[in-house]
Amino acid sequence: LSTARSASTATMETTYIMIKPDGVQRNLVAPILERFLAKGYILRGLKFMNVSKSLAETHYSDLSAKPFFGALVDYIISGPVVAIALEGKDVVAQARKLIGATNPLASAPGTIRGDYSIEIGRNVIHGSDSVENATKELALWFSEGLVDNNPVLRSQTFADRP
Ligand code: UDP
Ligand code: MG
Repeated sequence: LSTARSASTATMETTYIMIKPDGVQRNLVAPILERFLAKGYILRGLKFMNVSKSLAETHYSDLSAKPFFGALVDYIISGPVVAIALEGKDVVAQARKLIGATNPLASAPGTIRGDYSIEIGRNVIHGSDSVENATKELALWFSEGLVDNNPVLRSQTFADRP
């Protein structure tokens, strides 16, 4: 009962997910997308793109003082990425669970990083860490706006049950 109550009061959110260059190069775009879409999240944005240095620096500006910042920016601009906007109940925190811990050595098997990566500097995927940062990152990566994706199907998918 308490689970049902917390699920029904969970807020509809949209998060920013990005398959990093190593994920693209290793042909992990389809298996990674499959996990989120099979779970039931709704696609609101999807772009295959190269990343400018300034976009990478802005995205990771909170980490600009870290010793790995330069290497991180070089990693993100090393090849094209897939930028993804996903909508669903509590999707910001839930997507982080599906992604797993930052360091793949600490990511549980069954998570994306746990299953597909070993190195923290090549951990295949990004996901927003808070609703506030999701809003900022979606504005940065999808400044053109999101796609209005089939509201009829969406309301059926997420219909609250009695
Ligand atoms: N990173 C790294 N070395 C570190 C910590 C982080 O290379 O010691 C990279 C890693 O790719 C990580 C990204 O910087 O995904 C952003 O770090 P953050 O702490 O925000 O982790 P995340 O939110 O991606 O789990
Ligand atoms: Mg982060």
